[in-house]
Amino acid sequence: MVAQILDGKSLAAKIQAELAEEVIDFIENNGVTPCLAAVLVGENPASQVYVRNKRQACQRTGIDSQLHALPDTATQDELLKLIARLNRAKDGTPVHGILVQLPLPAHIDESRILQAVSPLKDVDAFHPENVGRIVQGRPRFMPCTPYGIVELLRRNQIATAGKHVVVVGRSDIVGKPMAIMLMQRGADATVTVCHSRTPNLAEMTRQADILIVAIGRAKFITAEMVKPGAVVVDVGMNRTEAGLCGDVDFAGVSQVAGFITPVPGGVGPLTVTMLLQNTLRAAQEQLLL
Ligand code: NAP
Repeated sequence: MVAQILDGKSLAAKIQAELAEEVIDFIENNGVTPCLAAVLVGENPASQVYVRNKRQACQRTGIDSQLHALPDTATQDELLKLIARLNRAKDGTPVHGILVQLPLPAHIDESRILQAVSPLKDVDAFHPENVGRIVQGRPRFMPCTPYGIVELLRRNQIATAGKHVVVVGRSDIVGKPMAIMLMQRGADATVTVCHSRTPNLAEMTRQADILIVAIGRAKFITAEMVKPGAVVVDVGMNRTEAGLCGDVDFAGVSQVAGFITPVPGGVGPLTVTMLLQNTLRAAQEQLLL
């Protein structure tokens, strides 16, 4: 079997085109342009690329963006003050969404910073209030990567109800919220979460109708670990000497799976797109305040 490709790049372009229309309507009806503020601390080259991509995507959809770049030496206090200012930015040049690019330098307490972002502007959905809402099944925002995967499955008519989803990885950014979102009423999957302490990982992954992998280990999931016909979603982005690759051995697994996401061009473009979706939603919600 040769798997069908789940093309995240073209789907992202389609969703961004839809969003651009919605943004035009929003501006016409409200006289306000949705705005995303990106906070970048230090000079991590990968973070710089991510922030640039996010700002370019904003531009494509008519969303304003701001860049607040602080040096590596910035203190936690300086960063908290900046976030407090962005939280307050309502009139004049409003800020509707705040994105703090991770990782932050080691001397800064990441969770302290993420908690400082107003839950109403927390378009990454990392604030404990927004995480709690996701767990309770009444989300304000959904975290961008799992949200993108939900859209990828939905728009490719891949049902999750009654399916066994195996999520490999339990990070706060991807694995954990992904598992919670797919076990909720409405998504109705039976979810197994695996991590580095899971014994006999292949036995677990082979049971998956839908296998979602977010571990950060290049080509770790091989063909023998995948049930024939399964849907395989590869979140991994690993920079190797041979270039960017996922957590899944695409060449082998695509001979076994029914559907598979490529890397690049799979989950990544959707993550950025859902950030824009959340920013528009934040702007809509803030108008009601
Ligand atoms: P993370 O915070 O490093 O977490 C990795 C998770 O994988 C942990 O739960 C870890 O288990 C588990 N793990 C590591 N090695 C394992 C192994 N050998 N077997 C089973 N589980 C293992 O990673 P993350 O932030 O979720 O990112 C994962 C990957 O996705 C990275 O490559 C990242 O670059 C990529 N990513 C891509 C996007 C996108 O938009 N495409 C977005 C976010 C992340 P323990 O908890 O036991 O340590």
